[in-house]
Amino acid sequence: MQKPALESVAILGGGTAGWMAAALLAKALGSRVRIALVESADIGTVGVCEATIPQIRHINAFLGLDENAVMRAAQATFKLGIQFNDWLRPGHSYIHAFSDIGLPYGLLPFQQYWLRARALGQTHGLWAYSINAQAAAQNRFARMERVGSSPLTGVRYAYHFDAGLYAQHLRGVAESLGVVRHEGKVAHVEQRPEDGFIDALVLESGARIAAELFIDCSGFRALLIEGALRAGYDDWRRWLPCDRALAVASARVTPLRPYTQANARTAGWQWRIPLQARSGNGHVYCSEFISDDEAASVLLANLEGPALGEPRALRFTTGMRKQTWLRNCVALGLAAGFMEPLESTSIHLIQSGISRLLSLWPDRDFDPALRDEYNRQTRFEYERVRDFLVLHYCTTQRDDTPFWRHCAHIDLPDGLARKLALFRANGQIVRDGDELFAEVAWLQVMVGQGIEPQRHHALADGMEVARLDEFLGGMRMLIKRAVAGMPTHAQYVAEQCPASAQSATR
Ligand SMILES: Cc1cc2nc3c(=O)[nH]c(=O)nc-3n(C[C@H](O)[C@H](O)[C@H](O)COP(=O)(O)OP(=O)(O)OC[C@H]3O[C@@H](n4cnc5c(N)ncnc54)[C@H](O)[C@@H]3O)c2cc1C
Repeated sequence: MQKPALESVAILGGGTAGWMAAALLAKALGSRVRIALVESADIGTVGVCEATIPQIRHINAFLGLDENAVMRAAQATFKLGIQFNDWLRPGHSYIHAFSDIGLPYGLLPFQQYWLRARALGQTHGLWAYSINAQAAAQNRFARMERVGSSPLTGVRYAYHFDAGLYAQHLRGVAESLGVVRHEGKVAHVEQRPEDGFIDALVLESGARIAAELFIDCSGFRALLIEGALRAGYDDWRRWLPCDRALAVASARVTPLRPYTQANARTAGWQWRIPLQARSGNGHVYCSEFISDDEAASVLLANLEGPALGEPRALRFTTGMRKQTWLRNCVALGLAAGFMEPLESTSIHLIQSGISRLLSLWPDRDFDPALRDEYNRQTRFEYERVRDFLVLHYCTTQRDDTPFWRHCAHIDLPDGLARKLALFRANGQIVRDGDELFAEVAWLQVMVGQGIEPQRHHALADGMEVARLDEFLGGMRMLIKRAVAGMPTHAQYVAEQCPASAQSATR
């Protein structure tokens, strides 16, 4: 017999996680489910200037939002990738660009032909075959589906935006779809005595918000999943040791870069995120190796324009909840876990959590099989992202500071050790299931971090040398030509999505 469907959801938290969940659930579920959201202006949100990955564009498509309008509202710029400076060794730089790199041929992925060409003495870098990397190097940008009329895929981009403004934009969407917002602090969580399921959130004002399903988007506080339900937390600092960040905005600089910078520092790294009217900066560091005062000095000494305010301190423990769905509560965003912002994955993990919840949507019986599958998939996703982040640290050749010496000796998670061994053997990369980062992402960071395959795949020797030169040279030329025709990033933003007057006054 069909079980009774859920009729009410309460979301605790109005940061990026809360409003993203509210908008997407309201759109997907329609009026069949009542959605309430509780947030407290006194507590506020983490929302700094944030960087995203290309999957975020699906949100606009799903909600039927015009991309340029969202970008205007959130002061957004385009992001082609992340440039990593000084990670391998001081003075070294590479980019993790979002587009494809080259073309596969026959049974082999592109990198095997590139490796073979290198073995034959060619010196063109991997990124000569990436339209994103070439555009980024010249601060150019254009939306482009394909490179000319060739089979090469075009530009793949994400956004840099003011996360607070983005959340406000989603709030407008959510409220227009019927989500009811309650302002106030949750003082008490009511639970059913027989099984610990959450019954209601009780605000300091005495208001009581009852629901059948609760979504914990309360940030690092994790008020429901940990405070009430004691899910427990897996601490991943042995792999990802940074545990603090200081964030500050600075005046806008030119040129307007279409990429994020992640610049290694003595005990961590510093981000630079270009928005339309200012830049976001943050120093992520490990408190075991540097004091907060020193970390603040490093941050402020490395701004490209004057600071706009005082640095804001954030503390975290890298890791994830042991269960992100427990009883009738699902945690999203910082309440579910945090793995530091190196590859801009947090907002994406919110998005994929919501889509997973929708595909495993429970009824009022809360069948444990749905919960278990949600937790299994979430853990799989988080652990693969974790391994990708660890790759940036553990492969450093730096030994100039205690922090980097520590990173070079990190005990590798099994999955990462396997991936490194495979790439070293003959340049192979195997994507595990539907893990977030595809082969092309692993390829760039492995090559960027100086991992050298011992040889290329034997089948790549099947292409004649003249044909190989033509194959590679043709791609380089097409990409070069396409990039030369692009406007600068600043021109493109000014034409397509200049910040709205409303967002610029924030
Ligand atoms: C240093 C740093 C840099 C980051 N950079 C990036 C990045 O570049 N890209 C990226 O994708 N992600 C980044 N993130 C992660 C990103 O900020 C978060 O994933 C995202 O903002 C979601 O946060 P949240 O909504 O979970 O929590 P928050 O923004 O903290 O929101 C919590 C909400 O809960 C409410 N709340 C809490 N307690 C109560 C209570 N008792 N009563 C009522 N309301 C309550 C608050 O009012 C608030 O609305 C970064 C995070 C950090 C710490």
